Amino acid sequence: MHDFNFVNGELFCEEVPLQRIAAEAGTPVYIYSRRTLRDHYRGLKEAFSGLPHLICYSVKANSNLAVLSTLAGEGAGADIVSGGELYRALKVGMAAEKVVYAGIGKTAEEMAYALKSGILMFNVESTTELEALDRVAGEHGTKARIALRVNPDVDAQTHPYIATGLKEAKFGIGIDDALAVYEYAASLPNVEVAGVHQHIGSQITQVGPFRESLSIIGELLQRLQEKGIPVRYINIGGGFGIPYRQEDVPYPSDYARELEPILKESGCTVILEIGRMIVGNAGILLTKVLYRKSTGEKDFLVVDAAMNDLIRPSLYGSFHEITPVLQSEREDETVDVVGPVCESSDFLARDRALPHTEPGELLAVMSAGAYAFAMSSNYNSRRRAAEVMVDGDRFGVVREREAYEDLVRGERAWD
Ligand SMILES: *Cc1c(COP(=O)(O)O)cnc(C)c1O
Repeated sequence: MHDFNFVNGELFCEEVPLQRIAAEAGTPVYIYSRRTLRDHYRGLKEAFSGLPHLICYSVKANSNLAVLSTLAGEGAGADIVSGGELYRALKVGMAAEKVVYAGIGKTAEEMAYALKSGILMFNVESTTELEALDRVAGEHGTKARIALRVNPDVDAQTHPYIATGLKEAKFGIGIDDALAVYEYAASLPNVEVAGVHQHIGSQITQVGPFRESLSIIGELLQRLQEKGIPVRYINIGGGFGIPYRQEDVPYPSDYARELEPILKESGCTVILEIGRMIVGNAGILLTKVLYRKSTGEKDFLVVDAAMNDLIRPSLYGSFHEITPVLQSEREDETVDVVGPVCESSDFLARDRALPHTEPGELLAVMSAGAYAFAMSSNYNSRRRAAEVMVDGDRFGVVREREAYEDLVRGERAWD
């Protein structure tokens, strides 16, 4: 569900025509629907209302302050993977006691920042990290609450780059070692064992992998109980997939229904770390056609957005629906939609059937709320796009388009 709909042949976000946003903010521009964000968050909340739970929004999916403040206003916590993300979460007034911190390479400086801020817990990914955290917490005269990120060795059946729960992944602690590492953690003076954590991948479109991994983790919880190391939190991670081409994916209520029995039995507070499902279909990338070009072999639409704005098609071969902002009767044609960047991997779509469009027309690249602007770069010294938030019949620029001076901030022509 989202709030990007055609009204009399023209694409709107909520009550605002996208043409108006392009006229005022220029292109390329990311556009987010605040209503969609709230609806997605509330849908998750409602689905898991039968369990004591905490929803931590995964900041890396889209870290714009307006997105974070919207979700903070709904009561969301944050799932962070860096000090920078903690800074952003705190900046919008997110409660530190609702922040969980994952990632395999936390520095001592980042650990200290998170400890001082009073986050809920660290999701620890290795024994060496555990030792470092114990040391940093000791130096600061405090105790670090932790969950171990356990790698259950299950196949999330998603793109290999975003599958994280298999043995060969760099993430987490192998399920066979988990018990021993928990015992070690419990013996450390400045660490408090609080939970268990998993995150098996992203854009998962079935409940099965979660059922499988949670049953493995359920057994671990049993063992921990027997060893006198009880945990109060079970963090099931994120990864709930979204429809990119109108495919069927489970609803939050489907996950809740199937997983509730296992989760209830754990007696723990459930933590969900959801990024894509909240924000993915709450955003689009609006771009303008610059040129039409044909090589004889192929027809291209050259648009003003490029791989530096949206890298998912180049990086993962991801599919994003693309639609002209104005509907009319016209023939379909097969084109590659490409940007100005000097790489052959710079494309938003390949061999795509699209209604014939002329230079100057606006195209909406759909489902571009997650891992889109957040992964953008200045490659080719392109200024990063503006971001706009829509709320009902009003909209505002929530990140200005970069200026040329922004490109060289901090640099020196050293000689
Ligand atoms: C990226 C990430 C998430 C969020 O994944 P989504 O697929 O966006 O829901 C959750 N937990 C951890 C540890 C992550 O790295």
